[in-house]
Amino acid sequence: MDSNIFDLIKDANDLTLKKHGDLVTLERAVFLSWWCDKGDCAFCYMSTQKDKIKDPRKARRNVSNIYAEAEMCKRLNWNIEFLSGGYKSFTTQEIKEIATKIKYITGDGVWLNTGITDELEEYGSEIKGITGAVEVANPQIHNNVCPSKSLNDISSMLDTAGDLGFKKAITIILGLGETLDDVEYVTDYIREHEIDRVIFYSLNPHKETIYADKSQPASLYYAQVVARVRLEFPEIEIICGTWIDNLANIGILILSGANGITKFPLFKMFGTKYGKRVEEEVKWAGRQLKGTFTDKSKLGEMKSDVSPDLDKFIKRYIKESLKNKY
Ligand code: SF4
Repeated sequence: MDSNIFDLIKDANDLTLKKHGDLVTLERAVFLSWWCDKGDCAFCYMSTQKDKIKDPRKARRNVSNIYAEAEMCKRLNWNIEFLSGGYKSFTTQEIKEIATKIKYITGDGVWLNTGITDELEEYGSEIKGITGAVEVANPQIHNNVCPSKSLNDISSMLDTAGDLGFKKAITIILGLGETLDDVEYVTDYIREHEIDRVIFYSLNPHKETIYADKSQPASLYYAQVVARVRLEFPEIEIICGTWIDNLANIGILILSGANGITKFPLFKMFGTKYGKRVEEEVKWAGRQLKGTFTDKSKLGEMKSDVSPDLDKFIKRYIKESLKNKY
């Protein structure tokens, strides 16, 4: 172990508190569909599903359900991390319409993570930023792991996004075979493409993928990557994903520079011992949680404040949040 890791994390924590304050956000990725046209990223659950879905349009979520989810995020003060998926299931115009309505519901512009596109000019103020799914922290490994997501195409989309005035984000999954030396590639990428937000995930080894028997990255490895990026870029927003089986990572990732945390089954965990655990992790890292993972009074009425079309979905989300599955 790098004997300086404590210093690194301490410096990252001091810097984060100084530049960003002590608020930590809960981020919720909102899926548009369960279809992926590429379906060949080596780590991804969707790559095991592609052959099972015959018609991409059938994998579309009901838009009222998407809007109800946005309304629940607003009630609980969770951020919408981005709209995700939807590639080849929704047209650009449809994605724009959905984002416009979500902005109306939450009062906030929406980040997109809906694949490589050359139609960014169609978007306007409903979109806050564009996410490039870089995924792998090593460009050579990238070509094997994500053969259909050309890094060049992602980079040029992000550059165009910047020219059009959108913010820019990238996603990076740790544990795909990269090493600590690859942090330099990540920092070069952030610098070169003027990235505003980095979303880190840790590998979730799915059955039926080549990673099925791999371990998730160590907490202190993950923390060191985050701390190094934070120290290099004091201003950027850093979101860190941890799965429900890794909640103990949260405290150390916050100390290393995370502004937000993500990748939980939020409604399922709400109010349970796991939701409480997340709040404890945030508290013991010396931070305040924006929003709640436990306060049932914030779930609100069993009907929508936006439209009666959303009522039955709101009811379903509230019921799910009140049911303790664990
Ligand atoms: S990571 Fe994204 S692009 Fe790759 S298979 Fe999964 S859903 Fe599709």
